[in-house]
Amino acid sequence: SPSDRHIISNLLPNGEEGEPSSSPSSSSSTGLLPSPESQADELTRYNRDWTGHYHGSSRLILRPKSTVEVSSILRYCHENFIGVVPQGGNTGLCGGATPIQNEIILSLEDMNTIYHIDKHSGILTCDAGVILQNLQDYAANNGRLFPLDIGSKGTCQIGGNVSTNAGGQYLFRFGGLHGTVMGLEVVLPDGRVMQLNMNAVGEEEDDDNGTLEERKTMVCGGTHRKDNTGYDLKHLFIGAEGTLGIITKVAIVCPALPTSKNAALLVCSSYEHVLKVLQTAHEELGEILSAMELMDDNTLQFVQQHGFSGTDGGSRLLQDMLESDSGSDHAISPLYLLVESQGSNSDHDSSKMDNFLTRLLDSNTIQNGFLAYDFKQMNEMWSIRESCNPSVARAGCVYKFDVSIPIEEYMDVASELEKEFAVRLEHCIDLKVCVWGHVADGNAHINVVTPGRFEKDYSLAKGIETIVYDTVLKRSGSISAEHGLGQSKNEALGRIKEKNVLDVMVQIKALFDPHGIMNPGKFLPRALRRDSQ
Ligand code: FAD
Repeated sequence: SPSDRHIISNLLPNGEEGEPSSSPSSSSSTGLLPSPESQADELTRYNRDWTGHYHGSSRLILRPKSTVEVSSILRYCHENFIGVVPQGGNTGLCGGATPIQNEIILSLEDMNTIYHIDKHSGILTCDAGVILQNLQDYAANNGRLFPLDIGSKGTCQIGGNVSTNAGGQYLFRFGGLHGTVMGLEVVLPDGRVMQLNMNAVGEEEDDDNGTLEERKTMVCGGTHRKDNTGYDLKHLFIGAEGTLGIITKVAIVCPALPTSKNAALLVCSSYEHVLKVLQTAHEELGEILSAMELMDDNTLQFVQQHGFSGTDGGSRLLQDMLESDSGSDHAISPLYLLVESQGSNSDHDSSKMDNFLTRLLDSNTIQNGFLAYDFKQMNEMWSIRESCNPSVARAGCVYKFDVSIPIEEYMDVASELEKEFAVRLEHCIDLKVCVWGHVADGNAHINVVTPGRFEKDYSLAKGIETIVYDTVLKRSGSISAEHGLGQSKNEALGRIKEKNVLDVMVQIKALFDPHGIMNPGKFLPRALRRDSQ
């Protein structure tokens, strides 16, 4: 209808494959409808997830610019039983932001104002659609460290991060979002707006409501580190994956920016040696240890073979690392560790890193090690780690798992999986298990790849999933450490949560979303949901 025209003309064009852009649409300024072909391309981008495994058929993308607009949309959808899929940067890895059918996609990308960072408390307040990288830069420019860092930072949004309870490499040091998020503004499915330890701001309703700076100040008041006034409802929305409402603003506490940083890449000949490195890091680096990332050999071989996109320096480093193992006679493939420290006294921190590396070399715990001399080299080291996801995705079809397991059994799981696949999936002998992840947290990203074959095989997927879950659950692990449930793991919830817990989850969902419009078909097992479509 003519009134839809404005909304449809706001569709965002020409995203890169799997990397949604956040720049505003050129067509939106013309007010004209894009051609049917370009509309179709635009719709495809929002309807497909980063892995390429999930596709929806939504025909309507809404990009509200304010909380009031989000509220009006949800109220309308609630009254008319219309399903809504909230979408941030669309980098989620379990299909949570992809419609099951033709639900409306509500993208937060046009709500991207950073309001303020309080110089005393370090609390930063922003809209939910701000891209993580922009928050990191803004915090750094204000002498603060944004307490979240993940490989998709150039595209993912803080609202998506909070909704998936994203973890990342610095959770070990700076804590998770349940600890750092101080306040939220959320819109409930019936359109009501809730301020949770945060002030309302009137800018959406009244353009004459002060200058932008004044309005920015208003939104930031009222957020406290301590607030014991009743149930802390914001925690329900952290990790709710858009099933209870839409997060529109976030307040998050940022620690002081560390002024000294050191990083090293280490090569170990066995997982026992990795455990020794971890123990030594705790003892020698102690409070300045900020990240410990593990990558296995299968993964780094793929990174090398499938277009490592870092600098030449990064490529040389990768090559040197992979070659440092050649000639050794041990049967087990090497494992690679990226260890980083962050602190506030460079002499003290460098001497700690030196002691740490000396102990490892003297005790033959590592086969080889590379110490970064400057920030450029540190970035090169991180670019190798951040290439794991995209490089493995270029190698073939990837069956992705994100699990928590006891740290001492981290790599046992990988070798057990290889054996189980060989026995239980006889027809599929070319599976490669790639493991990387946040080893200090016991969080492993297990990626099962069919090299050169890109088509998803659904029966193989089921077989792999059963074996991975059996292997993880027998160790009392978690089948979703930091990526969430979406539509890839929700059905398994019945297997891992006790009935009383599931019952309460279903009651919470019904309380917040009685018409079942929010993110239908996700999160809870389908049999327990009462969704609108
Ligand atoms: P989306 O994918 O758009 O949405 C994710 C979920 O949140 C969906 O269910 C959606 O409906 C909901 N949602 C989004 N915005 C809102 C909102 N404002 N209100 C309510 N619900 C909302 N994850 C990690 O935890 N750690 C990592 O180290 C990590 N590394 C990654 C590396 C790469 C290369 C990639 C592609 C992904 C990685 N991820 C990682 C996964 C992903 O980036 C995170 O899950 C991220 O938090 C998703 O944010 P997003 O803005 O892209 O959300």
